[in-house]
Amino acid sequence: MEINPAVTFKHDRTVMYAKRPKVLIVGAGLGGLTLAAILQKSDIPYEIFERATEVKPLGSAMSLGAPTAPFFKQLGIYDEFVAFAKYYDSIQFYNEKRQVEYKMHFASFADETYSQKLFGADGYIVGRPMLYDLMIRQIPKERIHMGKKILSTKQGGNGVLIRCSDGSEYEGDILVGADGAYSSVRQNLYADLKKDDKLPASDTLPLPFSTVCLVGQTRPLSSSEFPDIAKEDCQFINTLGGDRPFSWSTLTTAQNTVCWSVIMYLDAESSKDNDAFRNSEWGPEAAATMCEQVKDFAVSSGGDQKLTIGDLIKWTPKELISKVMLEEKVFKTWYGCRTVLIGDACHKFSPAGGAGAVNAMHDAVTLANYINALPHHPTADEITQAFTAYRDERIPWVQEAFDTSKIFKVMAAKTTVGKIVRFFAKYMPATVQQKSAVRMAINRPQVAFLPRAKDTGSVRPAPQPSLNAKGPVDSKISTTGTITGKDKQVEDEPAAATAAAAPAAVSV
Ligand SMILES: Cc1cc2nc3c(=O)[nH]c(=O)nc-3n(C[C@H](O)[C@H](O)[C@H](O)COP(=O)(O)OP(=O)(O)OC[C@H]3O[C@@H](n4cnc5c(N)ncnc54)[C@H](O)[C@@H]3O)c2cc1C
Repeated sequence: MEINPAVTFKHDRTVMYAKRPKVLIVGAGLGGLTLAAILQKSDIPYEIFERATEVKPLGSAMSLGAPTAPFFKQLGIYDEFVAFAKYYDSIQFYNEKRQVEYKMHFASFADETYSQKLFGADGYIVGRPMLYDLMIRQIPKERIHMGKKILSTKQGGNGVLIRCSDGSEYEGDILVGADGAYSSVRQNLYADLKKDDKLPASDTLPLPFSTVCLVGQTRPLSSSEFPDIAKEDCQFINTLGGDRPFSWSTLTTAQNTVCWSVIMYLDAESSKDNDAFRNSEWGPEAAATMCEQVKDFAVSSGGDQKLTIGDLIKWTPKELISKVMLEEKVFKTWYGCRTVLIGDACHKFSPAGGAGAVNAMHDAVTLANYINALPHHPTADEITQAFTAYRDERIPWVQEAFDTSKIFKVMAAKTTVGKIVRFFAKYMPATVQQKSAVRMAINRPQVAFLPRAKDTGSVRPAPQPSLNAKGPVDSKISTTGTITGKDKQVEDEPAAATAAAAPAAVSV
């Protein structure tokens, strides 16, 4: 394909056949799969390319609830999700002596849980592999191309082209980089922008990484092995290392497994030590040394046993333990011409806040809404405008999640600031606790082109501009490409969306 044809043709839609833009998604992580699952419900053609040759059940637990419930309902996967997830309404903080330091508990009302009443849905914990399996099943096999590592990309007035390590090439109209923290799509885009002097200086800096994470999920356990397994709701326990820069979590699941993770917080010195072992892949490579380092860390299981992380390691298949270096950054540049980034490719949070998956999914919902609103045969300019709207809508939420994740990270730190933050968290008045819960659950986006899911939360969802993005269009389009008439976005369901309480104005 000639991406930048020397002779520009007149973009006259009146003589063009109706054609939706073809979307190429790079990366079948939770962000890429969510976008694909949404596009599957539209008539927009898409293909998804993943470098891994097979899906491995890797990763620990994910926390999902009200923020994802409405669009899960729209996709018809909410009931299945709830069936394999485990309800939780508290997080317990333990010390290394297996003693409870404090418990963050979301109070219940007489007839409803706190989260249901305020936000319309409960909070759940699910092992990442189960969630991944649910999402990948929404997409027909022929749309997912495994073993396709994207090396380079090219774009222009006429389309996009991606080249894979096996020499194959694919063409489309829109390229979505959903390929994680070390996104190759981002690197290609940034290289082009840099050549044209259009890349902000901060985006040229390498990702600062500040944590090393070891994660896994045990085989199903009996309640004699791990008594908390028998409890109906998820036992979510966070242990803070007393005088060592670690925190570790255990979460019981509906499958009777324990999802676990150990986070090591790096300082300037340990950061240098770990740089030599930098590893951006989620997988068992290099995990053995860290397993050895953390095996004696105390774990609370709800019984008398003095379990340790070593026991959890013993109960977890070796090949399903991952060690990964984790970075924190919100990139300024999320798009250029026909290329756009979602999820970890454009914002990477500390794992302590557990916000990565939800925000990648919210990116997918918002981007799908704007792509769907594009006219037939969109020009590169129209596509770029849609990406601008997508970024404008998402950036305040992403920045907030980034800041919250940082607070969770500081909470686990050995520093004086860490101690102060922990003190405030422990004695946080209920009203302040509720306000922070509202901030985390008020953004509950929906897919604009699917029937709206009923949101029963008494705290109304935050305004979502992309809910008004309607398409495709059959209105008159000028030969210059200017959109008129029905293409203009229309107000939609003001009660549910635009009349919703603005985040800053909410109080409970
Ligand atoms: C296997 C795995 C396990 C994880 N486990 C945890 C966990 O336990 N806890 C936690 O908090 N977070 C975990 N994460 C990260 C978490 O899922 C993400 O932060 C979040 O879901 C955002 O997802 P994403 O789709 O943006 O990026 P990712 O989940 O990183 O997905 C990116 C995808 O792109 C693929 N890819 C990368 N480069 C290329 C390329 N050049 N060509 C084609 N494909 C490419 C990757 O293989 C991957 O499948 C894990 C991620 C992975 C991939």
